Amino acid sequence: MREQKSLRRETDKAMNTEIIKIDINNIDKEKIAHCAEVIRKGGLVCFPTETVYGLGASAFNADAVNNIFKAKGRPADNPLIVHISDYKMLELVTDCDGIQRDILDKLADEFWPGPLTLIAHRDDAVPANVSCGLDTVGIRFPSHPIAQALIEAAGVPIAAPSANLSGRPSPTRGAHVIEDMMGRVDIIIDGGNCEVGVESTVFDIAGEQMSILRPGAVTLEQISTVVESADELDWMKPHDNATEKPRSPGLKYRHYAPKATVKICDGEPSAVVSHILSEIKKAKNEGYSCGVLATDESFCYYKEDNVVVLSLGSLQDSLEQASNLFHCLRRFDDMGVNMVFAEALPKGGTGDAVMNRLYRAAGGNIFTV
Ligand code: AMP
Ligand code: MG
Repeated sequence: MREQKSLRRETDKAMNTEIIKIDINNIDKEKIAHCAEVIRKGGLVCFPTETVYGLGASAFNADAVNNIFKAKGRPADNPLIVHISDYKMLELVTDCDGIQRDILDKLADEFWPGPLTLIAHRDDAVPANVSCGLDTVGIRFPSHPIAQALIEAAGVPIAAPSANLSGRPSPTRGAHVIEDMMGRVDIIIDGGNCEVGVESTVFDIAGEQMSILRPGAVTLEQISTVVESADELDWMKPHDNATEKPRSPGLKYRHYAPKATVKICDGEPSAVVSHILSEIKKAKNEGYSCGVLATDESFCYYKEDNVVVLSLGSLQDSLEQASNLFHCLRRFDDMGVNMVFAEALPKGGTGDAVMNRLYRAAGGNIFTV
């Protein structure tokens, strides 16, 4: 193959996408070398991480980065996360000293590799379009062995947002990526299911007030053991106000959403069930095809004709809920559901991350009974 600046064709014609299965427990080095070569030549490779699948390109190749935005239909003001596989790469992509440097090192020590993205000052080596022109960069050292092997073999940091079409639920299984990205990327690595299931915690150490911009599996409580003054953005606040510049650009969009309308109901469990049952009756009369996003505990109360009921798992287990959330949202689409009623879930720990994604999928549509 001739060396090109960017492998992606500039026409709208579908690309030839290779699907490569890789076993997380027995990583095939030749397959990884092939994928790494495509990254180095400016191509697009989807790969599994412990959070969700990523759509990756060399973080040092501005054309390839541009193709990520095209492949996803991603708004040009929503920055990407740069994935690294060692601390030498961290030096290449960030430019910070003093307190910021100190905190970066401490947090990296404590939480990397793992589901935490840190926002720090960007080194000029990283093209501006990775960060949509911001002088910061989001960096993460994933713990997934396939992600690590790919970045290491590529020898360059990999810029990657989630490997879904913009706005859709993030992909947590190879099949989800194939659904969204076939014909849009060079390679899809199918490496099985993602363990965490929701995107990384985004923690900003470059701003005046160090805050969590997006909740994830690494919680405020955990971060506070390292950074006492750590804070969390109030994500229930609407962020689409044109006068207010959101600190994390991705926050202003309806996101993670199935095609169906999603409505969340919060309150005392039995009141939630009766409210949802009466809403189902109304929606059915209006011709909607209804679904309920329930838990193992509430599942049995929704046995209605022509209603698709899916369980996120146990009410008490937010890790299980996180790993099932996006798969459930996609299944509603597969089953032709166009109105989903979701039970609000317990907050705290990873529960905050699950509720954050559900809230965004519902476009803020939450009703308290
Ligand atoms: P995704 O990889 O699709 O889950 O999206 C990455 C998210 O990380 C973006 O939507 C932003 O919210 C956040 N992010 C990445 N880089 C930055 C940055 N430099 N400043 C603020 N937020 C960022
Ligand atoms: Mg995303």
